[in-house]
Amino acid sequence: MSNRSRPSKPWYSKGLRFQCTTCGNCCRNHGEYSYVYLAPLDVVRIADYLGLPPRRFVDQYCLLEDGWVTLRMDAPACAFLQEDNRCAIYPVRPKQCATWPFWEENLERATWEGAVTECCPGIGKGPLTPAAEVERIARETEEWYGEE
Ligand code: SF4
Ligand code: SF4
Repeated sequence: MSNRSRPSKPWYSKGLRFQCTTCGNCCRNHGEYSYVYLAPLDVVRIADYLGLPPRRFVDQYCLLEDGWVTLRMDAPACAFLQEDNRCAIYPVRPKQCATWPFWEENLERATWEGAVTECCPGIGKGPLTPAAEVERIARETEEWYGEE
């Protein structure tokens, strides 16, 4: 008889609830979540959407941080946050904006229930995203930034 234990389920095995309330918090400069990283394809897509050459877009809207291109968030918000808290580049917003809050680093229970919940009032609201989909989104985000 096999004595193998079943693989342990993640703490979020029943899924996670999230629905954006469009509060705009995550688009403002606030400590831990004040960096929006851009992969090379983000730079090309956003520059194209704005009708700018990529170099000009980077000079105007970005900073270089440890070898990464990041959006400037010192105005005191992202330059693309509009008065109604919507994103002016929504169709081509950076991958990390599109996949928040389902990032690998946020899937630690303490992080999810701590910093993520404190930053984002959409946590715990809205429809349940199944665990498999949460993990697919987290993987997609890692791959986009070349982390896997
Ligand atoms: S902090 Fe959360 S609820 Fe607020 S805009 Fe960002 S994703 Fe939406
Ligand atoms: S690009 Fe859009 S979604 Fe991302 S931080 Fe800026 S305003 Fe927010």
